Amino acid sequence: MTVKVRFAPSPTGKLHVGNIRTALVNWLFAKGQDGIFVLRIDDTDLERSTKENEDGIRKDLSWLGLDWDETFKQSDKFDRYTAAAEQLKASGHLYPCYETAEELERRKKIALSRGQPPVYNRAALELTDEQRKALEAEGRRPHWRFKLSGGRAEWIDLVRGQQSIDTSSVSDPVLIREDGSFLYTMPSVVDDIDAKITHVIRGEDHVTNSGAQIEIFLALGGKPPEMAHMPLLIGADGQGLSKRLGSLSAEELRNSGFEPIAILSLLAKLGTSDPVEARDSLQQLAMEFSFSKMGRAPARFDENELNGLNAHVVHAMGFATVQPRLAKLAYGDKATPEFWDAIRKNLVTVPDAALWLAVVYGGGLTGPELSDEDKAFIGEAAKLFPAGEVTLDTWKTWSEAVKAKTGRKGKQLFQPLRRVLTDQEHGPEMDRMLMLIGAEKARDRLIQAAP
Ligand code: GLU
Repeated sequence: MTVKVRFAPSPTGKLHVGNIRTALVNWLFAKGQDGIFVLRIDDTDLERSTKENEDGIRKDLSWLGLDWDETFKQSDKFDRYTAAAEQLKASGHLYPCYETAEELERRKKIALSRGQPPVYNRAALELTDEQRKALEAEGRRPHWRFKLSGGRAEWIDLVRGQQSIDTSSVSDPVLIREDGSFLYTMPSVVDDIDAKITHVIRGEDHVTNSGAQIEIFLALGGKPPEMAHMPLLIGADGQGLSKRLGSLSAEELRNSGFEPIAILSLLAKLGTSDPVEARDSLQQLAMEFSFSKMGRAPARFDENELNGLNAHVVHAMGFATVQPRLAKLAYGDKATPEFWDAIRKNLVTVPDAALWLAVVYGGGLTGPELSDEDKAFIGEAAKLFPAGEVTLDTWKTWSEAVKAKTGRKGKQLFQPLRRVLTDQEHGPEMDRMLMLIGAEKARDRLIQAAP
C-alpha cells in the first residue's frame, strides 16, 4: 500500500507556523516511506477564500521545500459534493432542519441552564411533510444535518492511541448551510475517499470532527483512513497559542531572514523525544520521523530556539551559497569570502550581515559618544596607527603599542578601539575586521573620533 496524505489549508489567511508544522509532518511521514503528498485547497468558503492567499500558501510551501505530488481545489468539486449529499439524503443520513440561529441559541441556553449538554435535539426529524412545506412556504430554507449513529466512533490514533467518541454526546453536524454552501466536514471526507488518502494527519482540534467524519466515510461507502492528531503548538511561556505565535506567518519568517531548514528542523522535532537540532535536509528529517516519538503534551514553540537553529545554519553556510543573498543588501556586491568568514559567526540571519557590510564597506559611521578620557586615549592610538597597508598582524602589534603607551589593558584598551572602528560594542574578531576595513578608513575613523 502506498502511503498517501494530504495537507488541506483553507486560503482564508496566510500560512502560519501551526499550518507549516501540519504540512511538514504530513510531508515527512509520506516521504519517509516513498508516499504521496497532496496539497488540497479547502476553499469551499468562497467569501473568505482568496486567490492571493492560495498563491501565498503555494509560494510558502515551495519556499520551504514542501513540494506536492498532486494538488486540487475544493471549489472545483462542488458537483461531486452535491452528488455525495444526494446519496446521503437518499440513505436517510442527511436531514433538513429549519431552526434559525436564534432558535438554536435559545435552546442551547435552556439545555445548559438545566445542566444538560447543549446537543441538538433532532426536533427536525419529527417534522411531517406538511410542516416542512409550511416552513418553506414561510420562506425558510433548510440547512442539512448528518444523523450520527449515537454509538461510538473508534479508531487507533497514531499519536493518541485508542480513541472513542460517543456520538450521542455531540450534535448532528450541519453539512450544508441554508444558502446551499458546504461546510468543511463532508467535502473533506469525499475528497479523502476520492483521492484514496491513507492517513489523515492534523491538529488535535479535529478529534471531535473525526468522530463524525468516520461515520460519514462509512455512510458514503468509504473506508476511514488511519488518523493522527497532533498536540497543538503553544508559546514558550506555556500559555497557549499567543496572538503573535498564532499569526506568525511563513511570509514573515522569510522576510525576517529565517532559513527554511531551521524552521523545518525546529517544527519537525518540537514535541518529540528527539533533541531539537538543525538538520541538513528534509530527507534527513523524513528518515528520522516517527509518530512513536511524538508526545501528547502541547509542543512549545520558542522563538529563541529558532534563532539558535537559524544561527547554526547560517554559520555553516559557504560564501558561494550566501553571495547572491548578500548582493541584495547595501554594499553586498563588495562582499568577499574573507568578509563572510570574518562575520558569519556573529549573525543570526543572513540579513544581519547588513550591519557588517556597512561597517566594512560603508562610508563614515555615526561614531560613538566618547568620554574626554577615551578621546585622549583614541588620540594616542591614532598617532600610533602604523603607516602603510593593514595586515592580519596589524591589530595585535598596534594594540600592544597602544597598551605600552597608555598603560590601558583588557576591556579598557580594546573596547574604545572597537567602538570607534566599528561603531559596535561587540562583533567579529578585530584583527580581521581591521584588515577588512582597511588602513584609510580606520585612520579616518580614529581622527574623526578624536579630532
Ligand atoms: N481545512 C481544514 C483546516 O484547515 C483541514 C482539516 C483537515 O486536515 O481535515 O482545519
